This record gives sequence, C-alpha cells and structure tokens, in this order.
Amino acid sequence: MASRSFPLLRRTLFVSSPAPPFLYSPTPPLFLHFSTLPAAPLRQTHFKRKFGRQRASLSEEEEPTSGTPTMGGGHSRWKPMCLYYTQDRCTMMDDPVHLEKFNHSCSVKLGETESDNLVKNLLPQAFDYFLVLDLEGKVEILEFPVLLVDAKTMDVLDVFHRFVRPTKMSEQRINDYIEGKYGKFGVDRVWHDTAIKFEEVIEQFEGWLYKHKLWTKEQDGNLNEAAFVTCGNWDVKTQIPKQCEVSGMKLPSYFMEWINLKDIYLNFYNRRAPGMVSMMRELQIPALGSHHLGIDDSKNITRVLQRLLTDGALLQITARRSPGSNNVKFLFQNRIR
Ligand SMILES: [Zn+2]
Repeated sequence: MASRSFPLLRRTLFVSSPAPPFLYSPTPPLFLHFSTLPAAPLRQTHFKRKFGRQRASLSEEEEPTSGTPTMGGGHSRWKPMCLYYTQDRCTMMDDPVHLEKFNHSCSVKLGETESDNLVKNLLPQAFDYFLVLDLEGKVEILEFPVLLVDAKTMDVLDVFHRFVRPTKMSEQRINDYIEGKYGKFGVDRVWHDTAIKFEEVIEQFEGWLYKHKLWTKEQDGNLNEAAFVTCGNWDVKTQIPKQCEVSGMKLPSYFMEWINLKDIYLNFYNRRAPGMVSMMRELQIPALGSHHLGIDDSKNITRVLQRLLTDGALLQITARRSPGSNNVKFLFQNRIR
C-alpha cells in the first residue's frame, strides 16, 4: 500500500495532551458549556423554559470532578469530553477554567498492557486508515461520530462528530427522545445547541473526508485507502440507508463496504463476542465514558480495534453492498448473525 503524506492532519493536537482514562461511571459526565453559541431566538426561549432547572442543578454539580473515577497512578485526572469541541464549536479554548474542567483531546490511548514495542510489530494492513463509526438513534440517527485511525501507528488522527436532528419527528417527540436518550448523560443541552440535519452532516462529513484525502466528490466512488469499522452490520447496512430514505437522499457511494469488528474478532480469536461490551470484557479492556453515547462508544470500539491490531489481526472488509441494490454480501463464512 503506497503511503501518502497528509499535510492537513493535525497530529500535534493529539500528542500534546494525553487523554485521561475514564470508566463507565454511575454518575454520568456533565457537559457545561452554556451561553457560548448563538441559537435561534425561538429555540433559545425553549431552552430557558425546558432546561433552566437542569442548568442550575448541573452548575451545582460542576465542582466535584475530583471525585470522578481514575485508574492507573500516573494518569491525569479524568475529565468529561467537551462535546462542543468535538463538533468544532467550542468557543472557550482560551478559558483556563474551562480547559481545566473538560477534555479537549480526542486521542485514544492504548491500554496498560500495550506498548510502543507492540506497535512496531503490527501487520501490514490492507488499508492505511480506519474510520471507526458508531451511530446512535434507532428511529432516526441522532449522533454521527467517526474516529480516523492510522493503521500503522494506531493513533487517532482526527474526529468527526455531529449530533443529528431528525427530519420526520415533531418538536415534542424530538424533545422527549433526546431527554430519554441523552438526558441521563447530561448532554441533552449540547445536543439541542448543535444538532443539524442528516443531509448537512453528510455534506460536512464529505468535506472532512476530502480534507483528509480519503474521498472526492468528483470520483463519487469508494474511500481511498480507508475503510469503515463498525461493531455489527446495523450502522452501515441498515441505519444509513434508512436515514437516507427518510431524508430523501441518495446513499453516498462510500457506504458500500465496511469492516464488522465482531466478525474480525470471531475469526481471529475463534471466540464469539456478540457486542462491544463483551469484546471489551473478554479482552480486559476497561470501558470508558458512557455506553450509548456515540462518541464514547466509538472510542471504545477504537480500543478493541487497537487490541486486534496489536494482537496481529488483519482487518479485511467483511460486508459489501451490491451496486445499485440494497443486497449485502457477507465475505466471511464464519460470522455473527
Ligand atoms: Zn470546550
């Protein structure tokens, strides 16, 4: 595989501040980042009514971050991720108090057992880059997080993260849906502040792919030396085409094939693990953040990917859509059904 230079990649962003380890926490991480974004006047009024109380209670709970879980003596204090930052919308990067409270690095550190020596022993892969994708939202897509992982170094080079506003739901239903889904993580406010429609997400995502030289609109074809990595087939096989239909869009050309990590896991370790949590448990990888917050799940899937790579797995395409149809061909005989 020819290696290419990526002048636009911002690797320094990720090496300068190591990501603190964090665990599934009984107390969800809080995301406090209010009054930094211009919001439509109508929505603003709505926020005040609906989230005013929660905002106050979050403020009271803002301080005790020192009580949040940490692991490993040498690590810095755990901080919740700034989800405005992951969407290129943090306006408080020069505020030391904010930086002290929130994590602004998207790097995913290898587990305690991995080391730089293992990275040197990685197999040559069929792809130069992996795009770890883990959608949220069963009815319509609510969150679209993608981590760009270098296949040679396993570094997370960049993150594309957007909250997605459903198109075919009433405001009331959206509010209930978001409260139920993201309220428990304390991120319903940032969702309302930043969510955009799926077609806009895809437009921005294509700009991001183009910036990283992974895809061009002109060629309208597959990804360039990169492949999506998902936990299961649902994300790319089912939910993306379903959302495209709801949003009245053509299925983008790059969603034709993907790597289902569960099938790789099954064929490499010869053990069945039906989901992300069971893969992590079997591999003894500590789970981080909030399960079913898409950005955190994507990071956890990236940890499983990193372990598979350091253990010597070859990541190959596991499923491919037939051109012009929704039929999917599964390329591994032995697979999770
Ligand atoms: Zn921030």
